[in-house]
Amino acid sequence: KKNSLEQYINELNEAQKAPVLHKEGPLMVIAGAGSGKTRVLTYRIAYLMSLGVDSFNILSLTFTNKAAREMKHRIAQIVGASEAKNLWMGTFHSVFAKLLRFESDKLGYPSNFTIYDTQDSQRLIASIIKEMGLDKDVYKYKQVQNRISSYKNNLITVKAYYNNPELVEADAMAKRPRIGEIYEKYVDRCFKAGAMDFDDLLLRTNELLNRFPEVLAKYQDRFRYILVDEYQDTNHSQYLIVKALADRFQNICVVGDDAQSIYSFRGANISNILNFQKDYKGAAMYRLEQNYRSTRNIVEAANSVIANNKNQLEKNVWTQNDPGGAIKIHRSITDAEEGRFVASTIFEEQMQHQLMNRDFAVLYRTNSQSRAIEDALRKRDIPYFIYGGLSFYQRKEIKDVLGYLRLILNPKDEEALKRVINYPARGIGNTTVDKLVVAANHYGRSIFEVMENIARIDLKINSGTRRKLEDFVTMIKSFQIMNEEMDAFALAEHVTKKTGLLLEFKKDGTPEGITRMQNIEELLNGIQDFVEGQKEVADSRGSLDEFMEDVALLTDQDNATGDEDRVALMTIHLAKGLEFPHVFIVGMEEDLFPSAMSMNTRSELEEERRLFYVALTRAEKQAYLTYTVSRYRWGKLVDAEPSRFLEEIDDKYIENLTPAANYKFKPLLSGDIFGEVDKSRLRQQKPTNTTPPSHKRPNEGTMRKLRKLKPALGTPIGNKAAPDPNLAVGAQVEHGRFGKGEVLKIEGVGNDKKAEIKFQNGQVKKLLLRFAKLEVL
Ligand code: ATP
Ligand code: MG
Repeated sequence: KKNSLEQYINELNEAQKAPVLHKEGPLMVIAGAGSGKTRVLTYRIAYLMSLGVDSFNILSLTFTNKAAREMKHRIAQIVGASEAKNLWMGTFHSVFAKLLRFESDKLGYPSNFTIYDTQDSQRLIASIIKEMGLDKDVYKYKQVQNRISSYKNNLITVKAYYNNPELVEADAMAKRPRIGEIYEKYVDRCFKAGAMDFDDLLLRTNELLNRFPEVLAKYQDRFRYILVDEYQDTNHSQYLIVKALADRFQNICVVGDDAQSIYSFRGANISNILNFQKDYKGAAMYRLEQNYRSTRNIVEAANSVIANNKNQLEKNVWTQNDPGGAIKIHRSITDAEEGRFVASTIFEEQMQHQLMNRDFAVLYRTNSQSRAIEDALRKRDIPYFIYGGLSFYQRKEIKDVLGYLRLILNPKDEEALKRVINYPARGIGNTTVDKLVVAANHYGRSIFEVMENIARIDLKINSGTRRKLEDFVTMIKSFQIMNEEMDAFALAEHVTKKTGLLLEFKKDGTPEGITRMQNIEELLNGIQDFVEGQKEVADSRGSLDEFMEDVALLTDQDNATGDEDRVALMTIHLAKGLEFPHVFIVGMEEDLFPSAMSMNTRSELEEERRLFYVALTRAEKQAYLTYTVSRYRWGKLVDAEPSRFLEEIDDKYIENLTPAANYKFKPLLSGDIFGEVDKSRLRQQKPTNTTPPSHKRPNEGTMRKLRKLKPALGTPIGNKAAPDPNLAVGAQVEHGRFGKGEVLKIEGVGNDKKAEIKFQNGQVKKLLLRFAKLEVL
C-alpha cells in the first residue's frame, strides 16, 4: 500500500505536495482555478489516513454531494474502500443534518425531524401571510423567505432581530414592518411541525454547539481533522460551525479562490478567507499557480478578464499546457439562432473529432436561457441534461408520494399533511383544514395531534367529516406500524396503492396522467435500487428514514443520474468546481451578463466578473462565447448589446467567428462607469413588437455574412474518398474510439450519409461517414 501511496503523491507537483504533506496545525491553500485545490484536499485525506489518522476522525466539507462522492471514490482507490467508507464527507447541509439526527432531542426536536425544502418554506410563509391578513403584494412570500433565510444565515434569531433596531427599522422603512412577526410565527410553526428548513440545519448546529459544551467537546474530539473545499463561498453560519469544531485541535485545512467567490448574494463572505490567518494563529499559507485544466489561451484570457477587478488577492496563474485554439466568439441575430449555432457546432465537432456528448457543456447566467438551447439540441437529436432544472423530486406527483412518506416518519409535518390530507380527494375541505390550523395554533400542537383528539375538541366539524379525519389518522398510523418491519420499497408501494394515489392517475387517462404514473413508477424503482444498495451495507434494512434522508438533501447538481452521455446544460453558479473539454457560454450581453440587477455597485459588478471567470475556467480545450443582437426577454424582443466582458478579454486570445460584425462593446460611458453616469442607460431596454423593426431584421448584407459563416463551420476537413462499399447494414466495423460494432442502419446520401452502429460496449451511435474513421472488418 505504501508504494501505491508514494505513487499517488508523485501525481502532484512540488507546490501541491507541500499542503498535502503538511502535518499538524491550520493551513490554507489559495489558488486559481484548475490548479489542483480539490486534488490537494483529496490526496491530503488519503495521506493523513496513511499516517494512521483514523478515518472516523476526518470531516470533509464540499460544495456538492457529487463532489463528495467523487472524492471518496478517489480516496478509496488509494487507501481501500472499507476505510474510505468511514469518512464524514459531504455538503455542510448533509453532514450537519446527519449530526443533528443524533443530537436533536437536546434542541427539543424529534430525531426523525423533517427537512423542509425551499418550496415547503415558501408555502408555509405564504400561508402565514394569509392568516395574518397581510397584503400579499406588499409581503411577497419569496422575498420574505429570502429575508428570513439571510437572518438565519447570519445567526440573527427572532430575539436578536427584535434587539437590533437597525434591522427592525429597515423592514419598517421598506413598508414591511411585520416581517419580525412573520419570522417569529414561521420559526414557531416549523418547530411545532418537527421540521427544519435548510438554513436551520446550520443555525441549529450552531445553537447546539454553543449551548451544550459537552456536545461541542465530543465533536471537537471526533473531528480532529477538518477540510473545507470552496472556502470562499462559506457563509457566516458555516464559518462559525467550522471555527467551533476546529477550535481545539486547529487541524483545519481550507482551500479556495477569492476570484471564484460567487455566492455573496446568498450571504457568502469573502472575509472568511481574508481573516483566516487572524482566526488561526500560525496558519500556513500555500499557493498553487500552475493550471492543469485548460489550454494556455484559456488560462491567459481568464487572467486578462479578472485583472479588471480591483478587489482581489495577487495571483499569477500559468500553465504548461498547449496554447490551444483561440476563444471563439459568435454573434447571432436572435437567441434561436444562437441555439442553432451551439447545436450545429456540437454536431460538427463530434463528427470531426469523435467526441462524446458529455464532452460539451453549455453555461448560462439565468435558467430561462436554456429553452432556446434545448429546442436547438432537440432538433438535432443531441441528448442533453439540465442540471438544477425542476428536479425529479420536485414534481408534483412525486412530492405527493413523498408527502405521505414524510407523514409516516413525522406526523407533525405540517406542509406534508396539508399537501395530502385531501389528495386524492376524500372529502376534507379547506374550511375543515383551516379550522384544524386555528385549533393547532391555539393549543400549540400539531395539526395531526388535533386530528387524533378530534372527538374531544369542539371544532364545529360535522360527524361525517370527523369520521373522515379519523380514518386518515388510522391510515397513517397503520403505515407507521408497517414501517417498523418493512423496507422502504415495500412500504412506498403499499402507500401508493392504499392512499389511492396510483388509481388517481390511472383513472385520469390523459397523457399527463400517464406521465405522472410513470414518474411514480420511476420513484418506486429508485427506492428499490436504494434499498438493494443499503442491504449490502451491514445492519441496514433499507428503511424509509434512510431513504428520506438521502432524498431531502439532494442538491441541484446531484439530480444528474451520473454517467449518461449527455450535453450538460446549467447555470454558471452550478458549474463551479466542474470541468468540460468544450464549453459554450451563451448570452454574453449587457444586462444579461453582467446582469441588469447587478450593476448598481462596483462590488456587484465584480461578482459578475468573477462569475465570468468561473465560467471561462471550466473549459479544458475550447471555449465559445456567444451573444445575439436581439433576444426575447419577458415575452418581448429587445435589443441586446455585447457584454463588456467580451471587450475585457485581450484580443490576442480571440477569434471572431463573425468577422464582419463588430462585436466590440461600445462604452456607453466614459471614465469610471460609476462616476457621473446616467445609470438608467445601463438598464435601458427597448421593447419592440414581436417582429423586429426593419432596421433590426437581418438585411441582405447581414444574411450574406451569415451565409459566409456557415462554410467556415461546415467545411469537412477531408472530403474523404467514398466510404468503403462493403459498408452495409449488418457489416462488422471497428472505430478508433468506440471499438467494434455492427451497422444497424444507413441513411442519407453524399456528404450527409450516416451509419447507425451498435458498438460492443452497448452504445448506439450515429456517425457521419465522411468523418468517421471506420474500418470494415
Ligand atoms: P477549481 O478552482 O475549478 O475548483 P481546482 O483548483 O480545484 O479547480 P482541480 O479540479 O483539483 O482544480 O484540478 C483541475 C484539473 O487538473 C483536474 O482534472 C485535476 O485532475 C488536474 N490536475 C491537478 N493537479 C494535477 C497534477 N499535478 N498533474 C496532473 N493533473 C493535475
Ligand atoms: Mg475545485
